[in-house]
Amino acid sequence: MKSNFLLSLLLLTQEYFAQISPILPAPVTYKEMDGSLYFTESLDIDFSGLPVNLKDQMIELATVYHDIKLSIDLNKPRVRFKKLVNVIKDSYSINISDEVIISYSSEASGYYAFNSFMQLIEKDSVGFALKKCFVKDYPKFSWRGLHLDVSRHFFTVDEVKRYIDLMSFYKFNTFHWHLTDDQGWRIEIKSFPKLTQIGAWRDSTLNNHYSTKPRTFNKERYGGYYTQEQIKEVVSYANSKYITIVPEIEMPGHSRAALAAYPEYSCNSIQQGVEGFWGVFDDIFCSKDETIVFLQKVLDEVLVLFPGEYIHIGGDEAPKTRWKKCEKCQNLMKENNLKDEHQLQSYFIQRMDKYLTEKGRKLIGWDEILEGGLSTNAAVMSWRGFEGGVEAANLGHLVVMSPGSHCYFDHYQGKGKDEPLAIGGYTSLEKVYDFNPVPSQLNKQQEPYILGGQANVWTEYIADFKKVEYMVYPRAIALSQALWCLEKPSFKDFQKVLIDRHIRFLQKNNVNFSKSFISPEIEWKNSKKGIKFKVLPIDLTSKIQVNLNEENLDGKSQQKEIQLIENQWLEINRAKKGNSIRNLSIKTGENSIPSNFSIHASASLGVPIKFITKPSPSYNSGDLTLVDGQRGALPWRGNEWIGFDTTEIELEIDLSKKDNYKYINLSFLKDDHAWIHFPQDIEISIVEKGKRKIIESKPVISFSSGGQVQQVKIELKKSTRFMHIRIKSLLEIPNGLPGSGHVPWTFIDEIEVVR
Ligand SMILES: [Zn+2]
Repeated sequence: MKSNFLLSLLLLTQEYFAQISPILPAPVTYKEMDGSLYFTESLDIDFSGLPVNLKDQMIELATVYHDIKLSIDLNKPRVRFKKLVNVIKDSYSINISDEVIISYSSEASGYYAFNSFMQLIEKDSVGFALKKCFVKDYPKFSWRGLHLDVSRHFFTVDEVKRYIDLMSFYKFNTFHWHLTDDQGWRIEIKSFPKLTQIGAWRDSTLNNHYSTKPRTFNKERYGGYYTQEQIKEVVSYANSKYITIVPEIEMPGHSRAALAAYPEYSCNSIQQGVEGFWGVFDDIFCSKDETIVFLQKVLDEVLVLFPGEYIHIGGDEAPKTRWKKCEKCQNLMKENNLKDEHQLQSYFIQRMDKYLTEKGRKLIGWDEILEGGLSTNAAVMSWRGFEGGVEAANLGHLVVMSPGSHCYFDHYQGKGKDEPLAIGGYTSLEKVYDFNPVPSQLNKQQEPYILGGQANVWTEYIADFKKVEYMVYPRAIALSQALWCLEKPSFKDFQKVLIDRHIRFLQKNNVNFSKSFISPEIEWKNSKKGIKFKVLPIDLTSKIQVNLNEENLDGKSQQKEIQLIENQWLEINRAKKGNSIRNLSIKTGENSIPSNFSIHASASLGVPIKFITKPSPSYNSGDLTLVDGQRGALPWRGNEWIGFDTTEIELEIDLSKKDNYKYINLSFLKDDHAWIHFPQDIEISIVEKGKRKIIESKPVISFSSGGQVQQVKIELKKSTRFMHIRIKSLLEIPNGLPGSGHVPWTFIDEIEVVR
């Protein structure tokens, strides 16, 4: 019965023409024809023959996408379904002429087809429109995965379900659930209750980035876990959306949470807490028999909960420090003729592989499991680049590619000042889009070993679910193109469809997606009269609109709209008198999300500053920062403030012109946990012919402990061009506060001198 599918292909006539598909991931074939179908709030549909789950999902999708009611009308249906047989796995087609025929092969493909169908519908003022068209589609890769680390930060059952929901709209089919790590064990294991009683909770969590020094910790108890009932609920939920869950139980490394509960399974049995710091730790599972048996018992319960083919056992980042000194580990090496600890890790993983294979499952692990030899059944997830995957495919192992270069969604995705804290790295939307799971080193025979690809979402710096959404979307949509499309459209075409059609969908469903790919990138510089900026060229369009709203302190405001061309600088002048605020809203094209700035244009805007005291290299975002007109914001980030770790700070400002200045405004930050405190004393001097004359020395007594950012206003009423500022901090952080006894940090932004 291949004929059904072929027939619909043959029906294609000259009237169809190729267009950019509004569907993401883009289908194999999309052809438009003249004319459209129209309907108002409900759509008549004939569900007969469809499995109940599929029908329920479709009714839900119609609401999620467009608030359309599907009414069952068997007499005059606009939408009908046909079953395809003998076609490529998960094939479907959609034919829209005077009625809609959706042909599907598997239940999952019916679901994919309906998602695509929903993405074809356009809403206008009257109702809904459907362009007449033909779609034929099937996926390129069988593993289209997203991962979520629930150990570093815990996410509730509802949040995990939402993660799965969002995946399902973009035809992902594999959810890699990273359930255990050093910082928390998140799955109930009935035979070892302490894994969650003790292992699911930590007493502290690192504040800020691990490279931020001094390191400070939030001492609140943190944790959580999923009961077996909850896990079953999530597995069944995912299954109803045609998503398989691959659970990960980390071994032998990343096991500090498990060892906090059962230290007897480590090499030295030393009792330690669940870790609150991020990184790689020496204490790992011992390779002795007792540990292997313990982990196999854990896996017994995991296998009952997760019916999928693959079980992920981690296998990455396992230092061999403890094994080298452990008598039991060393004896095992002798007994089994293992020449080093890498082979011992290989022995460990092979025992797990054998165990899982006997139970009818397959083992998958991070690419380190290749070191020391790998058993034939195991599959490899290549994360340290493509090389591990290539090596594994060469050896005949199945491979999932998830290289850090393209697939780590814990990296930054934008260069803007307002990007939230991330672990590091830069993986833009375009970089993800460029991902190809099959590297060129593989030949045609090896290609089939690549199951597909996956993005990983490590959550050290992702404490809440809104931020998960921010880090994952829209990058996951770019990834879905890389994993689904036989041939990806150009990045420009993808970006256009994403902006024109899919942003609205994400907004409708309150997805907190990152707008960095549509927010214009801006370059700032100082100029003769103040500061200037230009909008960096982006592909979308050359139309750059700047809305400038100028508010003067006398309450008058004026609105201006300026059209910029690429590479054109726009200047913002210093205020001749008082302080004025220029609100800028910069857009590049109809649907782009504007970048907004409030520029406080004082007399010191863009003037040269001499740093007699050098700022800490960790918190020095350039000389312009203090006079760029943009006051440091909260939550504070290193690149908006200038940070000093000395008790005295000296700066000299060249106001470019001798004039009468009324006052100076200095803004400071306070964050006890990060050892940042308000200063104690500020001294302003005017400098004439190289000589300083103190005009005000002000002890800072006005700071309350409440606000995190405060301004100090100092009267000047002096004629000068050069100004010297000396800021004194506390000599040490007072007792009872984090970091007591140490020199505090002083964070400044902005300095505004007013005429
Ligand atoms: Zn040992």
